[in-house]
Amino acid sequence: MSRRELLAAGAGMSLAAAAGQALAQEAKGQPLLGDPALPEAPGQRLGWAIVGLGTFAVGQVIPGFADARLSRLAAFVSGNRAKAQDLGARYGVGRIYDYANFDSIAEDPAIDCVYIVLPVGLHAEYTIRALKAGKHVLCEKPMASSAREAQAMVDAARAAERQLGVAYRVHFEPNNREVLRRIEAGELGTIRHISADHGFSANPDYPPHQWRLEKLLGGGGSLYDIGVYGLNTSLMMLPGDRVVGVTAHYATPQNDPRFVEVEGAVDFRLRMASGISVQGSSSYCTSPYVSRQRYFGSEASIEMQPATTYDDNRILLEGGGLPPREFRVGNPMRQFAAQVDGFSTAARAGEPHRTPGEMGLRDMKLIEAIYASADADGAVVAMNVEV
Ligand code: NDP
Repeated sequence: MSRRELLAAGAGMSLAAAAGQALAQEAKGQPLLGDPALPEAPGQRLGWAIVGLGTFAVGQVIPGFADARLSRLAAFVSGNRAKAQDLGARYGVGRIYDYANFDSIAEDPAIDCVYIVLPVGLHAEYTIRALKAGKHVLCEKPMASSAREAQAMVDAARAAERQLGVAYRVHFEPNNREVLRRIEAGELGTIRHISADHGFSANPDYPPHQWRLEKLLGGGGSLYDIGVYGLNTSLMMLPGDRVVGVTAHYATPQNDPRFVEVEGAVDFRLRMASGISVQGSSSYCTSPYVSRQRYFGSEASIEMQPATTYDDNRILLEGGGLPPREFRVGNPMRQFAAQVDGFSTAARAGEPHRTPGEMGLRDMKLIEAIYASADADGAVVAMNVEV
């Protein structure tokens, strides 16, 4: 039988049946199986406006939305319209705002959440403007230029009855979540000591590093930009503890023209109510790039090297009567989508984000205490700060 004859043999008849063969296969419906947590339809996801289309926004934040299940890109806010339109064309984002007409997002119902990815010195202003426009705000780290600004941001969120989060993405990174799980399960025994080293060499010819070396835009120096990872990540592993004292010393090279306005390097130590000591180093003047966390317990220790990168964190577990084991958990690149979806969930439920504005404010107070101690050549600054 030719194919033409088979087709002519009648509608509804499969080729096999028409050929007189037994029905071996048939398309038919099946019950719904599998993961019920399907991504939401685009129209039901919360819409996000990204403010500031710089290296981090373009390289990590915006592509990260591809993995999001509850969040979608809705608008770009930029001082460079051509760049925003180009990115808008690539990501299907038609709503473009600039810094002058930013407040008119209040009339845009497609925008539920605003993600501030501007230099630190602009965080407070744009966060507060977005909150006043009735939007929820996720603000990049460090939260602000000062604890006073951070407090004003927290107050503005309360007044607007909107959620405010600080983008401490490490709290959504699978390897760091795994370390927290193991510490909470007691696998390291009693933690005695944490050490945190974070740094790179600042390049004054590279535009994204230029504002980091200016007090007004950077807020502060290496501690603001990179040391804050060590500070925040160490405290992430000590829920329920309390910081009772801070000491610090600068390690900035003398006569280095990069460090006229902000510090190049600072070492700090936090004394916890539990007796645990957290020791950190933060640097704009060392190579290569370092991102290392170490957790020393009575039974075992964990080293993460690197600890807080976008794509390559790993865990080295030593002790506990076993040979050292190095391993990774999950895909670190998922942290960007997990963070925005976590914030979308919090915003929709009217509940605080995992890393709320109050956490950013806490860290700003600790940063100011670290500088106060370093300014006083290592004098102890007494604190009483809940983790
Ligand atoms: P960039 O310098 O690359 O980008 C900053 C963007 O902000 C610019 O491209 C510009 O966007 C906008 N902007 C507005 N006013 C100014 C100004 N006066 N000077 C410079 N830029 C301005 O910085 P990053 O992307 O590295 O950092 C942005 C934020 O993200 C910071 O808060 C930083 O701490 C944080 N960050 C967080 C990381 C993380 O892992 N969580 C990693 C890296 C950065 P436009 O041209 O669109 O107006």
